[in-house]
Parts: sequence; C-alpha cells; structure tokens
Amino acid sequence: MKKLCLLIFVLSVIKVSAQDSTLNYQPKILLITAHPDDDALFSATIWKTTRLLGGTVDLALMTNGEGGYKYSTLGNYVYGKELDEEAVGRDYLPGIRKKELMAGGDVVGIRNYFFFDQQDFYYTQDIEETLEKWDTAPVENRLADIMKEEGYDFVFMMLPFDGNHGHHKAATLLGLKAIKSLPEAERPIALPSFVRRNAEDESMDYEMMEGYPITKVKPDILFEFDRNQKFGFDDRLDYNIIANWVIAEHKSQGTMQLLMRNGVIEQYWFAELNSDDDLDKTRKFFEVINAVQPD
Ligand SMILES: [Zn+2]
Repeated sequence: MKKLCLLIFVLSVIKVSAQDSTLNYQPKILLITAHPDDDALFSATIWKTTRLLGGTVDLALMTNGEGGYKYSTLGNYVYGKELDEEAVGRDYLPGIRKKELMAGGDVVGIRNYFFFDQQDFYYTQDIEETLEKWDTAPVENRLADIMKEEGYDFVFMMLPFDGNHGHHKAATLLGLKAIKSLPEAERPIALPSFVRRNAEDESMDYEMMEGYPITKVKPDILFEFDRNQKFGFDDRLDYNIIANWVIAEHKSQGTMQLLMRNGVIEQYWFAELNSDDDLDKTRKFFEVINAVQPD
C-alpha cells in the first residue's frame, strides 16, 4: 500500500510538471524593433520559445541601423573601416549590422527577418520627428499584411515610455496600429517589453505614452522571465548567457556591449487593446516559459 501511494505521488508530480512546461500549440511570435540590436531585450524568452517549445519567432526591423556609428571605435578594428566616421558608418553599417543581427538571431533561433529600412537618422526622444521622417503609412500596412499572412500569437515590442528613444517609441506605435487595424479575432496579443536590470530594481511605472491612447497597458498586469533562473550541471548556468551571446554579435556597436551583464529580468506588459481571453493565453504562455528547462 505504501508503495502504491508512493507511485501515485510520483505520477501526480510528473503530471503536474508536464502540464506546467508544455503548451498545446507551438507559439508564433513577431518581434518589432527599431535597431538591429534591440531584440537582445527579449532574448531569453525567444530562446526558450524556439529551442524548448518548438515555436517560431520572426523579426520586423524598422531602421537600417546607420546611426550606430558614434561608438564604433572598436568596430573599426573588427571590420577594417573607419566606421566611427559618419559618412563611412552611414554607408557600411546597414549591411554590417544586418549580418550582426542575423548572427545574433541564429543564437536565439529567429526564422525570418522583415527589413523596413527606414532611416536611423540620429538619437532623439521625439516620436513626432521620427514619424515625420519615416514612411509610416507603408510601414504600418506592411506590418498588418505580415501579421495577416503569418497569424502570430504574440507581438513583442519595446515599452514606449517617455525617456525611451523616439525610434523605439515609433516602432511600437506602428506595431500597435497595425494590430488594431486587424479584425479582433485575427489580432496577435500585443506585449510591450522592457527589463529590470536587477531583482532589487523597481519595475518601470508605465501606463501609456502621452498623446497616444493606443499605447495604454492594462494596470497591475506584468509578466516576467528572470534570466537568473538556474539550470545545468550543479545549477551553474543561467539565461543571462543567451542575452550576452546575442549582444556579443553586435561588434560594430559600442555602448550596447556595456549592457552585457547578469541579473536581468525580462518584463512584458499587457496592452489594453488585447482581449480578456488573451490574458489567459498570455498567463499560460509565461507559466510555461518560466517552467520549461533544457534537458
Ligand atoms: Zn535601439
């Protein structure tokens, strides 16, 4: 009897853990980013999606990345060009950075890239200036067409908080507008994202980008994946490794490399334009992302 009880106990534990770490579908995600290294933000969740859940992740990149020349001093030596000189950088970086992006994408298993090649003109927090300089209507239409064609479950974008880069804010705004243009039943779930750099840090206090109600998120809902989650021999490994590998591919960039670190927690807000059913699906997805581990 004791043995039988033990057997039942073991079976129930296995059943619970199996339920917690599998989905009954293979998740399909679109990332919408402004610059060719922004995707590092979501890297651990993407890696788990493609490598452990059999999911698919595609990336829609808004700019050509030519504005990343200022801190290319070390990249000069990697590529044998004066990339930190504006004219040279603007000429060569679009090609170089696409290759860097795809090398990082190989690490996390990105399938397809959609390049929008809008100008990465210079750093500004001004979304209006960005929207004026970009061909926003064709961008929005193409994003909507891609979403219709592919039928994604989720779209990850950068959280458009006030102090964020205008290009990041514009990329997210155009993504949200494309989602909203679809019939409700066909909309992917919109999840604006950011990180906490340390467990002790407060989460960003975000409600919406001023003047753009479409960027509103549902209050008090936040999903997280902690890259410090341990696994492997003696539990020595963690998911900061994945993000650092992705960042390391962007050798033409300077300041991005300074974001290589441990301790990062990925965060995903829940856009207000999502439906209540979407909330259950998202909750389950992040339960599984947190539970599933490599063999
Ligand atoms: Zn960026």
